Amino acid sequence: MVYNAVVVGAGPAGYVAAIRLAQLGLKTALVEKHYFGGECTNYGCIPTKAFIESANIFWKSKRGKDLGVLAEPKYSFQTFSFWKNKIVLQLRNGIRFLCEKNGVNIFEGDALLKSRNIVALKVNEHFSELETENVVVASGSVPMQLPNLPFDGKKIISSRDFFSLEELPESILIVGGGAIGVEFASALSKLDVKVILVEVMNQLLPGFDRDVSRYLLRSLSRLGVKVYTSALLSKASYTDGDVEAKISLPNGEEVIRVEKVLVAAGRRPSPIAGLKDAGVLLDSRDHILVDEFLRSNVPNIYAVGDVAGPPYLAHKAFKQGLVAAEVICGKNAKYNFRAVPNVIFSEPEVVSVGFCEDDARKNGFDVTVGRFPLHASGRALTEASPEGFVKIVVDKKDFRVIGIQMVGAKVSELAGEASLAVELGLDARKLASVMHPHPTISEALMEAAEDAVGKPIHFFKEKGRLGERF
Ligand SMILES: Cc1cc2nc3c(=O)[nH]c(=O)nc-3n(C[C@H](O)[C@H](O)[C@H](O)COP(=O)(O)OP(=O)(O)OC[C@H]3O[C@@H](n4cnc5c(N)ncnc54)[C@H](O)[C@@H]3O)c2cc1C
Repeated sequence: MVYNAVVVGAGPAGYVAAIRLAQLGLKTALVEKHYFGGECTNYGCIPTKAFIESANIFWKSKRGKDLGVLAEPKYSFQTFSFWKNKIVLQLRNGIRFLCEKNGVNIFEGDALLKSRNIVALKVNEHFSELETENVVVASGSVPMQLPNLPFDGKKIISSRDFFSLEELPESILIVGGGAIGVEFASALSKLDVKVILVEVMNQLLPGFDRDVSRYLLRSLSRLGVKVYTSALLSKASYTDGDVEAKISLPNGEEVIRVEKVLVAAGRRPSPIAGLKDAGVLLDSRDHILVDEFLRSNVPNIYAVGDVAGPPYLAHKAFKQGLVAAEVICGKNAKYNFRAVPNVIFSEPEVVSVGFCEDDARKNGFDVTVGRFPLHASGRALTEASPEGFVKIVVDKKDFRVIGIQMVGAKVSELAGEASLAVELGLDARKLASVMHPHPTISEALMEAAEDAVGKPIHFFKEKGRLGERF
């Protein structure tokens, strides 16, 4: 049989592409060499969020005395892992079920491109071939190891290895202050693990709004995390079962001893073999180069998700999977989103959609910025989490919302509304006028919009304080 499309990789990008292709009536095959759901379901989004939730419950119960909760909690990493594995399995099986029910033909094995129309499949040293009109490469990415510090899975670990540990370490050095690093740092410190975090750039979450990054630094420090920015792990050696790490700082060097080192210093794409021979162009980091239709330079070969370049986000992968499928089916689809939400499930949570204030100005926008502090939100107070703020960046010319940054408990749940506002270029006056339910954190978004258009209600802004940073 000749397939209309063969999709390689059943992560967020690949399984969504395969389902949509089949929904649109194409003969579709999906090849996966490991687990359905890819990095997101098995090692990334889902396990980390389960871990963060479990750490939060432990931490909140310990801090519950003022709220009338007098229990002294204990933590079991093994019980957590059991619970987490059940969730992962449920989602993994659910994704496979959806593919099957939509009529996708599933193949298990390692795929490589033999030619522009042949995907070869390797299963236990046996090869077979799938003939196809189109190929969608959705082979994702893998953790990047440091040149001087290869993963050993025990002492020097990746985010993947973390979830195979049998117990929590007493101390850990996290290399990398991006999303993965700060999420692990927040959760581990809540579980009383001694955490040291090094980031090579001069701020946590490089590229994010500086107010957001500063706020997060303060919050992590309050949790007990020792954060070094502009710092480099220059050397590490094994000493009596521990790791001795040398950290180069702008003003010298520090040597620390930890039980484990978690390297969260980025990921690299994992393109399938045979692409170059088929004439497919890759960039200098091995991402497959694609246009806004997710098509490579070879017209019947598409790439979606992490392998097609940053940002490495599951929701970006989902949307790219859909667009590629629809383009293959001749539909008028394009990947050109204004809003690609970035959500970090740290303490407190962080959301960034569209332009931050500085970038908006650098890009020539004349902006006004509306702010609302969460200590003025009734809901944040009843959540016992009054830390954080909402910041909304508005184009003065037409009141269009061009960016939203938020820090605070549960702001992740506002990321969808923030995306809607930025993607549709919503008028901030409209956002301010829409009724938001009370008491919810979502009111903060409405209040920040009110502030941007000059009418704050629930906090008092003294004259001349408009440009003040939180
Ligand atoms: C710790 C961590 C936390 C994260 N948290 C979030 C989050 O909260 N939100 C978010 O949006 N993103 C998060 N991400 C990122 C997210 O997981 C990825 O962006 C997403 O999984 C990318 O999807 P993908 O389909 O492109 O690739 P992947 O999920 O990597 O899937 C690729 C699939 O292809 C398969 N494959 C590869 N090569 C072959 C081959 N030759 N033959 C057959 N199959 C092959 C792989 O086995 C894999 O299943 C997180 C990542 C990590 C590591």
